[in-house]
Amino acid sequence: MNKVEHIGIAVKSLDAGNALYEKLFGIPPYKIETVASEGVNTSFFKMGDSKIELLEATNPDSAIARFIEKRGEGVHHIAYAVTDIKAELKRLKAEGFEVINEEPKAGADNKWVAFLHPKSTKGVLIELCQDRD
Ligand code: ZN
Repeated sequence: MNKVEHIGIAVKSLDAGNALYEKLFGIPPYKIETVASEGVNTSFFKMGDSKIELLEATNPDSAIARFIEKRGEGVHHIAYAVTDIKAELKRLKAEGFEVINEEPKAGADNKWVAFLHPKSTKGVLIELCQDRD
């Protein structure tokens, strides 16, 4: 793994989240994107090399809606940049981590993504991401 790529934060309202984080950072999100397959609207803020992703559910069955229902708004996942996501998934699976996605899928911000289950990572949902181009 190369670095922390971003931290994902679940919010009830992306508009309200964007307004708050814009006030906090002093800059607007550089990208707002819907990932229909995941049932989420996302926005990304960037400061130097660090990124924050806000995620809002688009339907009550989305993982973000279920997360907020159970735990409220807050930190949802930590994403790590990798250069070969398939090789990393294979390696981590062999190390005993519980892989949620056997195959990487197209995520927000032009990335291939795959998740590791929090029960195998001390309670933290981990996203692996690799640039799509
Ligand atoms: Zn993410």
